[in-house]
This record gives sequence, C-alpha cells and structure tokens, in this order.
Amino acid sequence: MSMIAFVIVAAGRGERAGQPSEGPKQFRRIGGKAVIAHTLEQVLSWPQTAKAAVALHADDGELFARAFPISDPRVITVTGGQTRQASVLNALRALAPFKPDQVFIHDGVRPFAGHDLFNRIAERLDGKTGVLPALPVTDTLKRGAGGLVAGTVDRNRLYAAQTPQAFPFAAILGAHEKAADLAGFTDDAAIAEWAGIPVVLCDGSVDNVKLTLARDIALADERLAKMRLPDVRTGNGYDVHSFEPGDHVTLCGVRIAHDRALSGHSDADVGLHALTDALLATCGAGDIGDHFPPSDPQWRGAASHIFVRRAAKIVRAAGGRIANADVTLISEAPKIAPHRQAMVQALADMLGISADRCSVKATTNESLGFIGRREGIAAIATASVVYPGGLPE
Ligand code: MG
Repeated sequence: MSMIAFVIVAAGRGERAGQPSEGPKQFRRIGGKAVIAHTLEQVLSWPQTAKAAVALHADDGELFARAFPISDPRVITVTGGQTRQASVLNALRALAPFKPDQVFIHDGVRPFAGHDLFNRIAERLDGKTGVLPALPVTDTLKRGAGGLVAGTVDRNRLYAAQTPQAFPFAAILGAHEKAADLAGFTDDAAIAEWAGIPVVLCDGSVDNVKLTLARDIALADERLAKMRLPDVRTGNGYDVHSFEPGDHVTLCGVRIAHDRALSGHSDADVGLHALTDALLATCGAGDIGDHFPPSDPQWRGAASHIFVRRAAKIVRAAGGRIANADVTLISEAPKIAPHRQAMVQALADMLGISADRCSVKATTNESLGFIGRREGIAAIATASVVYPGGLPE
C-alpha cells in the first residue's frame, strides 16, 4: 500500500473573518474546539494517514499548541511562508525525508471534508495523476463591466475546486520547487497543470465548506451544535422511614390522615427525600444528607418541599432544565390513589414544571418484608434533567 501524507495549510492570517481575539480563523472555536483541531482530527482518524505536516505562521506556535494539545507522532509543524504556495512548499520539503508516495494538500479551514471524500480521492490515485475534488457550479455566472451585466458565462464545464487535492509526492514537490519564484497560482492543481501533471476530477462534497468569513464560522458552530447529542442526565433516589405513633403522614407534599406517623427529623416525606436525591444526582451535587444534615436543628420538622425546591435550584444553577420527575411509593397503607393527583400537582409546583412531566405511582409490597408488615414506607424516585452544551458525538 502506498504511503499517504497530508499537508495542512494553516498559516493564513484570515483577514476576511474579522479580527477576533481567538486569532486567525483556523484557531476560531466551533463546537467548542478550534477549526484546525477539527480538521486535524478528521485527517488523523482516517486510517490511511501516515504523516501530517501542518504549516503555521511563525507567530502561531503557541495558538496551535493550545488548539491541538494532543501529541501524535505523525504530526509535524512547519513554519509557513509569505504565501499559501510558499507554505505548501515548506511543508512538502519537511515531508520529503519520510518519503511518502502520495500527498493530500488540504486547507486547515475545511473541517467537514470527511473520510468519504478522502476515500473517493484515494481510489482515483494511480501514482501518476493528481486528483482534484470539485463540485459543478450551479449558480448562473455573469461577467460584469462597469456595474452592468456584460455577458453570461457558460457554466457547463465549470467546477468549484475543493481540497484536499492529492498528488504523487515527488512530482508535486518537483513542480512546487520549479514554481517557487512564480506567483499567481491559486491552488496546487494549478501548479500541477503548469508542470504537466495530469489532474483528474472527482466528486467533491457539499459539506466540505471552506470557512472564510465570520459568517461561515458562525454557521459551522451552529451546525456542530445541532449534531451534538443532548446532555440528558438521569438521577435516582431511594428512601425509607419507619412508622411511629401519630395521626397523619406527609407523602409527596400531601398530608394524609392515618393511624400512624412516619418517624424522621423533618416531616419524613419519603417521596420527596428520594426525589431530592434523584435531582442532586443529575449534577453530581451529593445527596440530601450533605445539604440538609439531620444534625442541623433548622430541619427539625421541616416541610420536605424545602429540600426539593433547594435541589431544583442547585440543578438550575448548574444550567439544568428538569425534564421530568417520577416517584414510586411502596406502602401497604395508607391508600395513595385518592391523593395521587394532588401529589402530582404538588411536585409540579415545587419543581416549576408542568404536571404532565410529574408522576407519582404507588405499589404495595405484597405483604412481604418490613413494608409488608406495615413497619414503614419506602420510595424510589427518578429525575431527568437536560443540561446545555450537549455531548460531542
Ligand atoms: Mg429521609
């Protein structure tokens, strides 16, 4: 198999993308990462990449180290030249000792080229010809003169060139060396044509946009945001309280007359305690005991909706949006069903979400165990919370 190296051109100053504090456009962040890091990761994750020379502006070494902190023995950095052409030549020279058979010359600001395109190009390489990915021009083209339309250009045989453009390594290095003192080449295929290297067309990719303007970068960022998986987190909680003499219990915020009471430091609302733990779990905020220690006298007899409201506030402060809450009460008595709707509404009120996102269910324990012997009541709860940002795919 022939050895493939990449040249990645990232030495531009990116004047057309404005003057952002993040530096030239190849260092602007899209989807939380520098453009050049996206491009490089795509190149390095392609199984055929044996080497990658990144041409950087002399001032950008530190920017690059920050943008791409990953150490990969295949990556070498090269100081770029005054022009894109000079940068490519420097990178080709740096690759020469590794003796690649083929080289893909790629813009650092094309983070969406994709492995399918790399594969299509590789399939066309035969050791003698270059390969240019391109798309047929679909807009009607006009020639203008002095603000007037001077003619319509036949677009039939016109293509918009993309990168990576691939070439036999020795041939394109030779061509670049010969062309070093000549200006006016806008891409590497132009140098190949000039040097007599045949270049074949292959289908480009519509996704393979070159990020040139500030607007391109904003759109790329939006596009990556849409591709991210939503960061939905689920927490669970469990609690149990035993009975003691009394005349009522409080379950999911609803007071229910009963011939016994639940024992506990607060109002012993097992449902809300389990839910408090479930909520805290979605943002790694510990458990109910961390926030409301039973040793603290201020929680003596406290209404447990205070704990749920506090947990919901912690979740929201972490950027979370509560998607739903589900509590199951495990109890032989009292009967829950007559109070279910009131409990659902109580949850909705304390969480600040609609009632259809809240659920209270009840089951007996089939007379088994401590619950079956009516020694206490247990509850389990699940909460789902959506956090912003999302997860990289
Ligand atoms: Mg408890």
